[in-house]
Amino acid sequence: MTLLRVPAAILPLLLAAAAQVDHARKQEPSPEYVWNESLDALIRTRIRDVSAPRMATHLFALAKAPLPYRKLNFTVPGRAANTLYEADAFLSRELESRGYHVEKEGVRVQAFRRDLSKPKHAQYSRPMPEDPWYTAYNLYAAKQGSARPAEIILVLAHKDSQSWIDSPGANDNAIGAAAVLEMAAVLSTYPSRRTIRFLFCNEEHTPWTSVTAAQNAKARGDRLIAIFNIDGVGVKPAEDAAAGKKTNVTAYTLPEGERLARLMSAVNARYAIGLEQRTVRRPGPGDDDGSFIKAGYPNAVVNIGSWPYGDPNYHTEEDIPELCDVKNAAMAVQATLAAILTLDRQP
Ligand SMILES: [Zn+2]
Repeated sequence: MTLLRVPAAILPLLLAAAAQVDHARKQEPSPEYVWNESLDALIRTRIRDVSAPRMATHLFALAKAPLPYRKLNFTVPGRAANTLYEADAFLSRELESRGYHVEKEGVRVQAFRRDLSKPKHAQYSRPMPEDPWYTAYNLYAAKQGSARPAEIILVLAHKDSQSWIDSPGANDNAIGAAAVLEMAAVLSTYPSRRTIRFLFCNEEHTPWTSVTAAQNAKARGDRLIAIFNIDGVGVKPAEDAAAGKKTNVTAYTLPEGERLARLMSAVNARYAIGLEQRTVRRPGPGDDDGSFIKAGYPNAVVNIGSWPYGDPNYHTEEDIPELCDVKNAAMAVQATLAAILTLDRQP
């Protein structure tokens, strides 16, 4: 390094000029998203309202008692409705208690058959035409935007458990349903500029009901400006869990989704949420975000705890709520909420 000899009289001027440049850079808005003090204050206030204990209560209700599973082909003895319909009723009650109106969209589906010759995590296999058909419901709740109601931010999670095996499906995906419910709760009193839509769909029966949701949105001409699928939040390999890591991965498929992934990283840092936040590009459309990408909505991502998915109990009977990292999931909810609020307040 070369030391320049600077006359003492000029030094303060140079330092002032350097400070000005630095100041100008700090004032320059992000090329993608703009924050200001009032938005920062709004986001900090709202994400403080995220409650991990409330999420845990909802998780256990959906994945232990009173509901051991959430599937169309299992009814608790002595009860009138199957466990997926019971889960629908539970979610609807929770949403309605927050002032939401719940809409249902029925889709004809079957349970998967089970193929014991396949690895445990992948034993789902195609049903036969003679197997029973059921109506599975997509549940919708929404906040109507005041300024740009036609622009819709969609947050979704599949709510059903595995139809081919007696798994509570706690990490996959009662935790995601509890996460979306928590976002609906926190946002219930928020006056949104754009429309914020919540969708609870089904992905462990066939066909996936998110496919119908996405195709119907396209047929209506809905302008979905951002789509966040919440699946397996807080899930990570045993060694990461033992090390106390709090992780989130935002996986995108197309450049429009990469923009949302960068937003997730930006808000995690800006609001000191504390996640080890990563972004990855999926090899192709997948999961419920993939249903929307295939229907023509490129701006879809999934928030998931690990990539590749690190749950040792994936699709087994041991996917129980006691093993969910609800604190981690609550942090992922905070980051997703911060991203949604940022999008909603953009000019
Ligand atoms: Zn699954």
